[in-house]
Amino acid sequence: MKEKFVCPRCGNQEERYIGYHNGIPYCRRCLSFSGRNVDITHSIQQGITLQLSYPLSEKQERVAKETLSLLKRGKNVLIHAVTGAGKTELVYDSMAYYLGLGLHVGFATPRKDVVVDLKPRIEEAFPKAKVISVFGEHSEILQGDIITLTTHQLYRYENYFDLLVLDEIDAFPYKDNPVLKSFFRKSVRGNYILLSATPSKEDVQEIKKDNGMVLTLFERYHKNPLPLPEYIHCYSFQYYFKVLSLLRKYENENKPVFIFTPTIEEGKKLFRFLSLFYSDGEFVSSQEEERRSNIERFKNGELTYLVTTSILERGVTVKDLQVIVYKADHILFTQAALVQIAGRAGRKIQAPKGDVIFLASERSTSIDGAIKEIQRYNKQRNLL
Ligand SMILES: [Zn+2]
Repeated sequence: MKEKFVCPRCGNQEERYIGYHNGIPYCRRCLSFSGRNVDITHSIQQGITLQLSYPLSEKQERVAKETLSLLKRGKNVLIHAVTGAGKTELVYDSMAYYLGLGLHVGFATPRKDVVVDLKPRIEEAFPKAKVISVFGEHSEILQGDIITLTTHQLYRYENYFDLLVLDEIDAFPYKDNPVLKSFFRKSVRGNYILLSATPSKEDVQEIKKDNGMVLTLFERYHKNPLPLPEYIHCYSFQYYFKVLSLLRKYENENKPVFIFTPTIEEGKKLFRFLSLFYSDGEFVSSQEEERRSNIERFKNGELTYLVTTSILERGVTVKDLQVIVYKADHILFTQAALVQIAGRAGRKIQAPKGDVIFLASERSTSIDGAIKEIQRYNKQRNLL
């Protein structure tokens, strides 16, 4: 009998992805990933230490310590920490420990924008380390002391990481992507830490099966509760004017606003309407070239509102931000997406509160689930 072909790169053994060239099998599932692999014997600099210029909260400190002690016992860890808990800081102690032993440390996340934002933060925490970032158009330099990268680039680091942190495990495009999951598994030769504010049941089951433990942190670093979303019923003909009246209120109060729309089309149409009344806004989506500069202008206060698709659902922190979700009962707004979106509000210690408005024509299961989930975190935050 012929031996079953298993793709050496992504682990695929499904016949439908296997092609044959001159009778030799190859994998079509990961064909688009090719390029250099790094030298796994690369050695990192000595004397890299963590130099954090601000203290962690008591609870952050506790989770950070527990994480490291689990790793030392050879365990993997999933940290379930609410939005605004300060997730990144939870892994610094562990990173410092591995770096101190001269081991390979990486920090991966599904989205490029997040890698770009992450690098300066890691550099600040580990000033002596050479921190590099690797993503699609930025993959010339592959070796450093700490490697920040997209999950798409993990295939270059086969059997490389002694500690790999993977942030936003439930985010697109990593979620439900067997090729990227395989790259992740193959790149780890030691242990890993997964981070998420909204892990799925499957994520929790998977890590328990893989010699791992789940740690939770349901308190934001500034100790205030998560803003609880308000559901506002809207008939379809009312949407535009409802959004406009909310925007008018926030404009008068001088508060910046994100308005989330389920699709690019809906976003464009809504923005066209709103811009007739308020010119200090923009529309951002994965397709808009200007998105990074518009987000920067928004952060600098040059813009007061952004109409956005799910692209700003995660990873963005803006002081005193108010949040409107337009057509929140749309099927693309899952419970996890709504929890992430709600988590954009009240993140700064100087402005720990903020409105989160779900505009919808019905209270969908996701809306209901998201509100209840946030209530549960707020209840539990004092207990743990
Ligand atoms: Zn493959």
